[in-house]
Amino acid sequence: MNDVTECTPPRTPELFACPVRKRYLYQLWRYRRPTHRWKQALHGAPSGQSVEGLAEILRVAEEETGHYPRAFAEAGAHWGDLRSQCDLVHFPSLTRSTAQERWRELFSRRVTADDIDEGWLGATSGSTGEPVRFFMDAMSIHFFTAFVRFLWEREGCGADPGIGSTGIVLLCTLPRSAIYRTRLPLWRFTLFRKLHWSEPEAPRQLETMAPAVVTGDPDSLQRLAEALEAHELELAPRLILSSAWAMPDALAQRLRELTGAAVVDYYSLAETGPVAWRCTAGTGRLHLLEGAVEVEEQNGELLLTNLRNRLFPLVRYHTGDLARLEPARPCACGARGSSIVEFSGRVAARFVACDGSRADPSQLQPLLSALPLRQFQLVQTARDEVLLRYSGEREIAPPSAAPIAQALPRLLGRPTSLRLEHLDAPLFLAGEKPIVYRSLLEI
Ligand SMILES: [Zn+2]
Repeated sequence: MNDVTECTPPRTPELFACPVRKRYLYQLWRYRRPTHRWKQALHGAPSGQSVEGLAEILRVAEEETGHYPRAFAEAGAHWGDLRSQCDLVHFPSLTRSTAQERWRELFSRRVTADDIDEGWLGATSGSTGEPVRFFMDAMSIHFFTAFVRFLWEREGCGADPGIGSTGIVLLCTLPRSAIYRTRLPLWRFTLFRKLHWSEPEAPRQLETMAPAVVTGDPDSLQRLAEALEAHELELAPRLILSSAWAMPDALAQRLRELTGAAVVDYYSLAETGPVAWRCTAGTGRLHLLEGAVEVEEQNGELLLTNLRNRLFPLVRYHTGDLARLEPARPCACGARGSSIVEFSGRVAARFVACDGSRADPSQLQPLLSALPLRQFQLVQTARDEVLLRYSGEREIAPPSAAPIAQALPRLLGRPTSLRLEHLDAPLFLAGEKPIVYRSLLEI
């Protein structure tokens, strides 16, 4: 799927400096103990702690927000009834469209102007077709420090970085991007710097900073691997973290060899922060950050209850991600909790068949690969219509798309028409996650 971006021409990025809240002593005073507790919880929450955290989020949702009291009442559920994680299933789930329409009612009434100031009001990129507004409170933001320290200890990265040294550099290649620097009082006042590869002398800046941890999406880490191989810089971070979409194993291996760092891929949602990290023993599992999230599976989709954020509670939230959940069991890497397996993309990337079930359009990939397309996107626009948008040197003649037109009725279980649309401009920009399959239908 990633090969479709190879021919995309580079675009000059737009960079802007972003102001960052720098109340370091306040942050140290307010969040040092909670982040320490989070880190301990990630190392292995004593049983019962997660139920307490879960009950507390349900209580906050029911007593302090505008949305949940009615939703809970309609489902006949009350937070005090929760005895174990299994009881969560009796509470109503929160769809993305409800979160989108009623996001103001998801705020706790306890939110103050200071909380808004310390937190972050964001919106998802909308890769599921439904961008969602959300509020990340300061605790959720500082949770990232607990997460990094947990992985640092888990991967045996050694002594903490020196006070005042560079802790974390976030690498970026996206077209529009904020760049900034701040200190991390919760990690020995180390420097956090977001660095764009298009900044002047980015490799030299990175080498000079010599960060303990490098993080970014697979594209920006790919750029790092290339820079290291071309001897544009030398770098020896202890830990490299990848998120946004799955990191190819070959890239992880290259980075290990080039830097000697532990390389960890993790699964994160913009709405919540980190959710799971990929097993370092090569099992492919995503081990859940127990104590920080409660994850369920419903009809193949992951539902998530975020235990971090009490000011904007998300209870049984539809992530739009398709995967299976595996119960707790000891893993070769030492993890003992439950895991996400068979991660297979986004709900919106599935087509809707005539009987209402989901159909996987990537089955058509071999037929699409046989066409002279530079980039393409296959969109289900109606139950009986699919649109193939593509860019390429020239328009393709309809007969050459006949194999796809013939395969669609088999995939969707009904006669389906195929429309073709040729585009002169590229469909996806460099650094953008290509959404190759997309359904505009609600399931
Ligand atoms: Zn494992």
